[in-house]
Amino acid sequence: MTGDPWSIPMVGLPSEDDGSCKFAPTPSDPTCSKPAVIHILGRAKGWGNVSLATCVEHAGIAFLAVDISRMHSYSPNCCPGVRDEKQAG
Ligand SMILES: [Zn+2]
Ligand SMILES: [Zn+2]
Repeated sequence: MTGDPWSIPMVGLPSEDDGSCKFAPTPSDPTCSKPAVIHILGRAKGWGNVSLATCVEHAGIAFLAVDISRMHSYSPNCCPGVRDEKQAG
């Protein structure tokens, strides 16, 4: 285990939108591979506008990492041209 459990969730590097949850415990870890069910769009510190595809389990972390402007059920290409940033908690 590495990292501070009390650290604030953060948004990491942009990654390929392949329909899976982009959560990772730290930015260098592999992402969660569960199917994304929620798409969160908003602003994150240091990134500006971001979009996060997340599974139900990790949605709570995405809520903390992003100042949410839009949220809906995720579907492939539901937001054409929007990249999905990797999230870390
Ligand atoms: Zn996940
Ligand atoms: Zn979307």
